[in-house]
Parts: sequence; C-alpha cells; structure tokens
Amino acid sequence: MNLIFLGPPGAGKGTLAAKAVELFKIPHISTGSIFRAARDAGTPLGLKVKAIIESGKLVDDETTIALVRERLSQEDVRAGYILDGFPRTIPQAEALAGFARIDRVVNFDVPDEAVVERLTGRQICRNCGANYHRVFKKPRQEGRCDACEGEVYTRADDSEEAIRRRLQVYRDQTAPLIGFYRERGLLVDVDARPAVEQVAANFKKAMGR
Ligand code: AMP
Repeated sequence: MNLIFLGPPGAGKGTLAAKAVELFKIPHISTGSIFRAARDAGTPLGLKVKAIIESGKLVDDETTIALVRERLSQEDVRAGYILDGFPRTIPQAEALAGFARIDRVVNFDVPDEAVVERLTGRQICRNCGANYHRVFKKPRQEGRCDACEGEVYTRADDSEEAIRRRLQVYRDQTAPLIGFYRERGLLVDVDARPAVEQVAANFKKAMGR
C-alpha cells in the first residue's frame, strides 16, 4: 500500500503516520524529518536547506524530488510506504507519478486557526519524534520525553511568523494537489479537527479498516 498524507502543517500527519505504520507495517517517509536530520548532521544537503526549512519556505523541487526518488529505491519500501510532506507542489506530484504508483492520498483537513493554535505550542522529542504541546499535552518531566526520555524541543519553524508563512505556502502551492489527486480518483478526505484518537478512527474508517 503506497500512501500519501496530504494536509496543512499541524494537521497531525506525523502523529497519524506513526499509527498507520503500526496498522500497515510500512515505513513512514517524512521529507521534513529527512531535511532536519541532514541539517542536524551538518551534511552538504543539510547546509543547503537549513535556512529554507527554518524560514518555512519550500526546498526546491529538483533537490526534493531527487531525495524522494532515491529513498523510494531502497529495499524497505517494497511492501509500501507512507509519504508525509511530499509531494508539496504540482511539479513534485507529476515527477512522483513517473517513478511511483500511489494507491491512495489521504487529505487531512483542518482550518487555519486550529493549525496556528496547535503549532505555536508544539514540542517534539528529538529522539523518537513523539509530539507534545506546551499547554494541551505537557511531558511529565519538563523537556524530557515520556516514552524514551529524549530531549523535547520546539522546531525553529514553529514560530508564529514561520507558521503563517508555511500556511500561506500550503494554500498557494500544496492545496492544488487536492484537486490533482481528486481528479485521478485517489483522494480520501479525513476530518482532522477532532482530537488525535478520533482522527485516527476517522482515518481507519476511510481506509476501510
Ligand atoms: P514538514 O516537517 O513536513 O513540516 O517540513 C518542514 C520543512 O521542510 C518545510 O517547511 C520545507 O521547508 C521542507 N520540506 C519538507 N518537505 C518538502 C517538500 N516536499 N518540498 C519542499 N520542501 C519541503
């Protein structure tokens, strides 16, 4: 099963992907996580994308497409995968169609105000990727992950200014993909406004599970 998770930043794609990994036993491929890991490791790719990802703008299509193409050539994706955060532009979607067969595109729908509220408080474990929130879901011990005791931090692009920019980029460049995949009969809509357990249930239902 080859899936794409589509939706604005803060729709809960990362959290839902973690659940879908368990459900379908396929890897979660997040281009944002790959870029952040490259930045943290100081690789040439990381140095190239650091300022872009921290500002909330998009990395160029050529770099991003090459990265995903290489990732999808690896062994562990044979039985399927979840693409989270890719494609984000029509040229990326067109390129993807040339080297991958997508079974379904899950569109996580949530209004802008909810996104800003969620993301301004978002905190993430640097080690296992678990999500927390400064107000709604604090870790038991400040700055430490409940699950693995990793460091819990705030992403550089979760400042209010960067969030507004990311939302604008989403509306301008990524939202057209909803029509692109609907026309191809691949889109399933999931209401991502409720709490994560409910969204997970909506997702399972939409997938016929
Ligand atoms: P995310 O973790 O998906 O919110 O991605 C974080 C940042 O990584 C984005 O704001 C972009 O700067 C960059 N990025 C991730 N995926 C893509 C993509 N498909 N195309 C261009 N830039 C991307």
